[in-house]
Amino acid sequence: MTVARTLFEFDDSYARELPSLSVPWTAAEVPAPRLLVLNEGLAAELGVDPALLREPAGVSSLVGHGLPEGVTTVAQVYAGHQFGGYQPRLGDGRALLLGEVIDTAGRRRDLHLKGSGRTPFSRRGDGLAAVGPMLREYLMGEAMHGLGIPTTRALSVVATGVPVPRDGTALPGAVLCRVAASHLRVGTFQYAANLRETAAGDLDVLRGLADHAIARHHPDAGSYLEFYRRVVHVQAELVARWMLVGFVHGVMNTDNMTISGETIDYGPCAFLDAFDPAAVFSSIDSGGRYAYANQPPVAQWNLARLAESLLPLIDPDTEKAVAAATAVLEEFPDAYRRHWEEGMAAKLGLTTPDPQLASDVLELLRGQGVDLTLFFRALAAGTARDLFVDPAPFDAWARRRDALLPADRTAVAAAMDRVNPVYVPRNHLVEEALTAATAGDLAPFHKLLDVVGAPFDERPGLAEYAQPAPDGAPPHVTYCGT
Ligand code: AMP
Ligand code: MG
Repeated sequence: MTVARTLFEFDDSYARELPSLSVPWTAAEVPAPRLLVLNEGLAAELGVDPALLREPAGVSSLVGHGLPEGVTTVAQVYAGHQFGGYQPRLGDGRALLLGEVIDTAGRRRDLHLKGSGRTPFSRRGDGLAAVGPMLREYLMGEAMHGLGIPTTRALSVVATGVPVPRDGTALPGAVLCRVAASHLRVGTFQYAANLRETAAGDLDVLRGLADHAIARHHPDAGSYLEFYRRVVHVQAELVARWMLVGFVHGVMNTDNMTISGETIDYGPCAFLDAFDPAAVFSSIDSGGRYAYANQPPVAQWNLARLAESLLPLIDPDTEKAVAAATAVLEEFPDAYRRHWEEGMAAKLGLTTPDPQLASDVLELLRGQGVDLTLFFRALAAGTARDLFVDPAPFDAWARRRDALLPADRTAVAAAMDRVNPVYVPRNHLVEEALTAATAGDLAPFHKLLDVVGAPFDERPGLAEYAQPAPDGAPPHVTYCGT
């Protein structure tokens, strides 16, 4: 008797319900697939035995081949504002949606490939991805997950054996398999809204998309306006969480902003070392549009684009729709501030937010170039003063904070250590690990992955992982679309 050993059981509600928002497409052949890293915990969450995924048939499925009969993989179409300029047709240029899996907790999750070859949306791109950037996405997603911040996560990275030409050299190619609550983006709504203006003139696609998104993410939202409000609020919380840990996404185009509230598309992202509101890491962001401190207003700008797309669903009377959507959009700054203030209170060990105290300390960090992550752990440990070249202003600030602290200082320090990470993916360590991995040595990558996956537990022997780049290191630059 043979025992059926199934891998994934895919549903295809997106492709089925919204046929005009994707095209059936097949992943490129992979001549020599080699599994580089598998997320065993995530596989288990998806209800799949990790051992099966390591077998040849499993590895094949992780690059989009040998899927069960009847599974149609699709390339999704979307539009988006890229650095403020509207692109009416982007879409999965090097990616495919394999399908949806209901996980062991009953949640519907997308499985999606990145680096799976050209599609009708590739434009001038080659459809490929290199090992380094795909491992980077894997690592960053796991770090965010470890920090408790909503994020897409990688299930696997498989080396393809296909060389990927980049900047005059050939890099080893890879396919990432990504798990997301969905791949519905602000840009998906922009595309659907635009269809109405250019084609049939009816609202069917847009309404279908909104109904799909509501059913999937906000089933209790009773109206399109309420759905919009939910998205505004999940994004306000998400961006506040980024800011609290010093995360710079780097390319907050509307096609890289989810409806679910998960962080998506780890391209040129980075974590701050020295606190600097103007920090920009991406080589292509010369204007600083996506600088650290610009992230909240950019998120709100993106949400305004979502509102514009939803207007005809919100009210047939455009003026009324604009008024209603604007009122909801204006909830963003308050919602953001509330999450940020509460988050800062927890980071500082306070029971009640003190926004002035919070912004004053950040100004001290900025003025003296103090490392954001080191500071909050040192504050709990009572050693923060040593991080300042000129400690006097810090001492004055610390006296103000002391007056507000609860009596049990041991409990305060323990609570702070539960929200302030020791380990974030330090840029120089990420680069070292990826360089080694590209050359064939995955040990530093696995080590770093292990460290950042449990960011709040200080462990012996890992002191170097808690430190910023040594003085005199060149500024960190990240590259997009690689
Ligand atoms: P990103 O800003 O990295 O999320 O990518 C923006 C758009 O460019 C998306 O539509 C991607 O699918 C597409 N893209 C990025 N890199 C490539 C590539 N190498 N080949 C084809 N399309 C790509
Ligand atoms: Mg993208």
